[in-house]
Amino acid sequence: MPVSSHYRAAPRFLELGDGFADPVQPARFPQHRLRFRNQRWAERIGLGELDEAEWERHFARFEPLPENVSEPLALRYHGHQFRNYNPNIGDGRGFLFAQLEDPVDGRLLDLATKGSGRTPWSRDGDGKLTLKGGVREVLATEMLEALGVYTSKSYSLFETGENLHRNDEPSPTRSSVLVRLGHSHVRFGTFQRYLALGDRERIERLLDYSVRHYAPEAAAEADVPAAFLRIVLERSAALCASWMVAGFVHGVLNTDNMNVNGESFDYGPWRFLPTHDPRFTAAYFDHAGLYAFGRQPQGVLWNLARLGDTLAELTDPSELERVLGAFPEHFLRHHREKLAARLGLVAPDDHVAMELQSVCRAFLEESQVGHDRFFFDWFGGAASEARAAASPEAERYGGPGFTALRRAMDACAPIDAMRLAQPYFEGAGPVTLLIDEVEPLWDAIAERDDWSLFEQKIAAIRAMGEATGLASAVRAR
Ligand code: AMP
Ligand code: MG
Repeated sequence: MPVSSHYRAAPRFLELGDGFADPVQPARFPQHRLRFRNQRWAERIGLGELDEAEWERHFARFEPLPENVSEPLALRYHGHQFRNYNPNIGDGRGFLFAQLEDPVDGRLLDLATKGSGRTPWSRDGDGKLTLKGGVREVLATEMLEALGVYTSKSYSLFETGENLHRNDEPSPTRSSVLVRLGHSHVRFGTFQRYLALGDRERIERLLDYSVRHYAPEAAAEADVPAAFLRIVLERSAALCASWMVAGFVHGVLNTDNMNVNGESFDYGPWRFLPTHDPRFTAAYFDHAGLYAFGRQPQGVLWNLARLGDTLAELTDPSELERVLGAFPEHFLRHHREKLAARLGLVAPDDHVAMELQSVCRAFLEESQVGHDRFFFDWFGGAASEARAAASPEAERYGGPGFTALRRAMDACAPIDAMRLAQPYFEGAGPVTLLIDEVEPLWDAIAERDDWSLFEQKIAAIRAMGEATGLASAVRAR
């Protein structure tokens, strides 16, 4: 198999020993039709030279990669789902397929599946992923990456030729298997499982493993569990801030969907918000709006407190409480940074950054300007004045709220004025991924097997990420 010298197998999960995963067999599918191949990430990890047959062998038939995990592993975890503890979950339709070291920055990466068949944790599920679910995960990850959100990547998507039955899609519906490239699948719920089982020894093992591979800076501190919680909290605050600036609603912020590396993953009923509305909710089944746009910071903090409950087995809980108390400060600081970055601006000092944050938020809420439209129109601040004046939403750029915002933007400098010369900024408007675009894009596939809208959307999203520079910022992390 033609792996390049960039390929670095690193099957570290085995260091955890027994009790963390179950070996499983991948499903056999009647058909393998490649629908998405993430060539740029494949090249980065040394797998870009695989030909079609090899790609299919590894990412549809799941033959192990060289020197890697020898048998797929369904990972064990629990989690709070909509605040109710569920001890019956785990990898019910996925497994860890391989681990690799990122040749660029040394991160330990996982290739893991979604829709690869039943496992001991499937309960009464079929272990499969609908094609629409796969398409939606690819779109979400591409858009988030382009907007500078630290996210898992969609690595491969095969259509698999089965008919699935779901309550939330017209059924029967087409099937797929996704491979996701992520910075670990250690979830808050992985820790929670061993608290629920009263297994302190495995909490210690999991913490050692997590510190060694994902938070080595905690190792030298006097209180390692508290240092680990602090690091996870800072990363999660940064992630949540970047969702808020992206206008992204994850939809299912359960503790089993949060990773200790602050990497966003597992995309189900996600939505992007059309205009700033704190009550905007993604999941049709989230009747109480628990995970509405404006409640995401609270949701993330609540989840961090559940991770803290587990770490309290190993250290003084009052120290963990102190760590949790710092969430708002970290969230707001990251939010300021990400907001300025999405506007293509650099604030000269904290005072201006805080002012920009407060007036921008007020303006977005009051004016109900299109969320993406605003950032498109005003990228680079004053330098975009003429472009903004020609926007279909130009009439919203007036009044006292806007005057205050304009003053704050004028006090900042553009990150790189040259970016405005990119063709993207001469286009008619922002690249967006609102539900009104996702549904027709899926309908073209469902009704006519027409993948052109999907492919064009991905190309447009990538071009946007390159034009704003936000995509390269996240890739370098
Ligand atoms: P999710 O909502 O995707 O985060 O999944 C929550 C839990 O339900 C996890 O344990 C999944 O593995 C499991 N699950 C979701 N869909 C299926 C399915 N079709 N078959 C088996 N398990 C599933
Ligand atoms: Mg999940």
